[in-house]
Amino acid sequence: MSPPPSPLPPLATLSAPDLEWRADDVSDAPYSSVYDDVYFSRHDGRAETMHVFLDGNHLPERFAAWQEARPFVIGETGFGTGLNVLCAWTCFERYAPAQARLHLVSTEKYPLPRNALARALAIWPDLAAHARPLIDQWPEPLSGVHRLWLSERVTLDLHFGDAAERLSRLDGRVDAWFLDGFSPAKNPDMWQPALYKAMATVSRPGASFATFTCAGVVKRGLRDAGFTWRKAPGFGRKREMLCGEIAEPPDDTRRASTPWFTPPRARPARQVVVIGAGLAGTSVAAALARRGVAVTLLERDAPGAGASGNRQGALYVKLAAETNPQSRVYLSGLLHTRRWLATLDPEQRLWQDCGVLQLATGAKEAARQQRFLAHHALPERVVHGVDATTASQAAGTPLDAPGLDYPQAGWVRPDQLCRHLVASPGITQRRGEARDLDFEADADAWHIALTDGTTLAADHVVVATAHEAPRFTPLAGLPLKPIRGQLTHVPVPADAPSLARVVCAGGYVAPAMDGVLSLGATFAPGNTDTAVHTADHARNVAEFEATLPAFAEALREAGVTLDPAACEGRASLRAASPDKSPYAGPVPVREAWLDDYAVLGSDARRVPDTPGQHHPGLWVSTAHGSRGLASAPLCAEIIASRLCDEPLPLERELADHLHPGRRLVADIIRGNATLSA
Ligand code: SAM
Repeated sequence: MSPPPSPLPPLATLSAPDLEWRADDVSDAPYSSVYDDVYFSRHDGRAETMHVFLDGNHLPERFAAWQEARPFVIGETGFGTGLNVLCAWTCFERYAPAQARLHLVSTEKYPLPRNALARALAIWPDLAAHARPLIDQWPEPLSGVHRLWLSERVTLDLHFGDAAERLSRLDGRVDAWFLDGFSPAKNPDMWQPALYKAMATVSRPGASFATFTCAGVVKRGLRDAGFTWRKAPGFGRKREMLCGEIAEPPDDTRRASTPWFTPPRARPARQVVVIGAGLAGTSVAAALARRGVAVTLLERDAPGAGASGNRQGALYVKLAAETNPQSRVYLSGLLHTRRWLATLDPEQRLWQDCGVLQLATGAKEAARQQRFLAHHALPERVVHGVDATTASQAAGTPLDAPGLDYPQAGWVRPDQLCRHLVASPGITQRRGEARDLDFEADADAWHIALTDGTTLAADHVVVATAHEAPRFTPLAGLPLKPIRGQLTHVPVPADAPSLARVVCAGGYVAPAMDGVLSLGATFAPGNTDTAVHTADHARNVAEFEATLPAFAEALREAGVTLDPAACEGRASLRAASPDKSPYAGPVPVREAWLDDYAVLGSDARRVPDTPGQHHPGLWVSTAHGSRGLASAPLCAEIIASRLCDEPLPLERELADHLHPGRRLVADIIRGNATLSA
């Protein structure tokens, strides 16, 4: 059996490259002083890209012939200035059929700062329109995967970190490789067997590659990994370059120790039904519709009737002191949602990036935050520690506790966001309540029986009904708990003091929106009551006064009444899994897993090599708890990407962490899994 995969390296802030700006044939071109090498040819970087990477992979012809529903996938080993990516995109626009899509996966260990990226790309004014979305969405230099939407048809996943390490975690497969990076003589660390092996593992059969170098170590490395290569005329003064293919990529053994997470085989996606129009359902429906899939969104009530119907919600996460997979998922989710919202609604009508302060109101939380800061070297713009004085300045009100400041987080109008997503082109709304789901093998389709006696048919079904998901027979036994949460709304006059940040401690308070301050939310696991209670308003007000005493006092002086009996609010149910991480992915066939993996109950080391059986075309997105704004949009992309056979926007290990079958396997290993639950 293959050795278990290496653990994810610590989250890190990547160093910026040491750049010089040189004027040769091209004015103002970036040059790496550490590697003593150019980012692109001094004579004509763009012509070099066209020759080496685009023509070397025969992209004009392959784009023109692309008829698949899935996107054409390009992988790259050094993003640099993004010139190759932008040239691939313009080439795709020129040659590919109108419905074709392009997906780019690029790794980068030393991301350029945004202003350097903009400066480098300014050399080509006719690429300015293409460079704009890249520069606008350019992520902070945080290790991990960052998904950018370059256009309706073009997606870019930036995998920040070392190329070999990043590609070894890629969940997706590549059609053509741009093997770039500083030259093997100047950057030998990158051109290692581990890189070629990782490339081979995630290549589609017949995947091509092209590279500017003809170095012997590269030829040998590629050959040993299964690629064939041939020499081709190089660009400019370079005599030769290499291009080639891999006919039969090696078996992907990366899930040998966790075969249950092997993704189900891709099936056509002509018609998808999404059940539930909260944020989980509407974001997955919009993600699929954007990919050209016909989506019917089935909802019993109005969009956002459940917890996603709140008028205002905090976009924030609470990260563990020591990094764990859950924290990584939530941090990725936070940054993903923010980038997604900025693309969806640049005018910020549906959200605001005012920042979030997580106050340490007690000694225990202060110690936890100190441990967090000691364990994490994250970019300042993502999260950093603040003392009480700085926290007060940021929040615009006196505070007497230190905290963690997330300057890019903020608040969202979840109800309006859901309605906005429902209106995406390609989504058909259907009012109705699904009673149960049944896969008809003869028709190779799902039949969804509605309570009004009608049925819907679909190739795929995505269940996004929060704690009610296990009501459907194939999902019976999915461990989920309802959690009641009540928000309190306090009307405030326009001239009342205002908050500049969302502030959270036990609960949260967001800056007033449309003359109303939202305080919340209560947290009552197992409670399914959705009536609004004065006692819960009293709890929210007390929490608010304890967290922000000076601000509460200033509000009173401005004539605001904080009387629980006079407050209005909203109560709803959220869903949580036993380990508090969301479920996002394919649905296991419970009986089959109990059978196939029974041996784990007596010996957890005897891992059968049977891939996990999944209900064909059945997916679930739920258990988003009270952090759904940070998790649901990323989970939507994970499901839409998997369903459409595209690379995932998250490391393979983290996608597995979200797998809806993870608890079932854990229960089988502990010997307490039964057929019913
Ligand atoms: N493709 C780029 C473009 O279109 O601008 C030019 C790439 S530049 C010649 C090489 C890039 O590889 C640099 O941005 C460098 O930081 C990156 N790089 C070097 N070593 C790396 C590694 N081990 N993993 C990932 N990226 C690396």
